[in-house]
Amino acid sequence: MRFITHRIGRQYQATADRVHAGVDAAIAIVEKSARGRVGSLEVAVTNTAGMWETVVAAHEPLFGRRKSKEWRRNEGSPFGTTTVTSVGVLVVINAQTCRGRTVEIDKTLLHEITHAVQFNRPGARDLLMRSLSNNYGLTAMTTAEAAAANRQVDTDEREAERMERHHRQLAKSLA
Ligand SMILES: [Zn+2]
Repeated sequence: MRFITHRIGRQYQATADRVHAGVDAAIAIVEKSARGRVGSLEVAVTNTAGMWETVVAAHEPLFGRRKSKEWRRNEGSPFGTTTVTSVGVLVVINAQTCRGRTVEIDKTLLHEITHAVQFNRPGARDLLMRSLSNNYGLTAMTTAEAAAANRQVDTDEREAERMERHHRQLAKSLA
């Protein structure tokens, strides 16, 4: 696991510290509950603008230079997002929206790490790569493929939301 906190203002340091302190415990909770592994994981803490810049930078080795608005309509919440990189999976936590909200930080960490486990499941990375390539206008998906990809996103989202309920367990392990 690699932890990235570049381009972060002092006002977000407490949020970055909370993420840093909680990430290993959150991984343990999610890997046990979701029965999977996060694999090669990077975790970044940044502000709202930096969140999209970080994602687009991670995609560049995979898809070339792209505009963030194409990614934006696909994925992510105001609090965080998760995507594939050339070496594994990247979780980005938005310190600007999470700032001062410890419960939200913990829930977001559990939620996004769940996506990391999901993206490591058999076939998931390929499907996500095809969706992203479609969103970036590089390769087209058929209507049936797009519908299947959307169903997977919905299923993944429900699982990630359910994982948030472990936030008290996570907080207790950090106390
Ligand atoms: Zn999600």
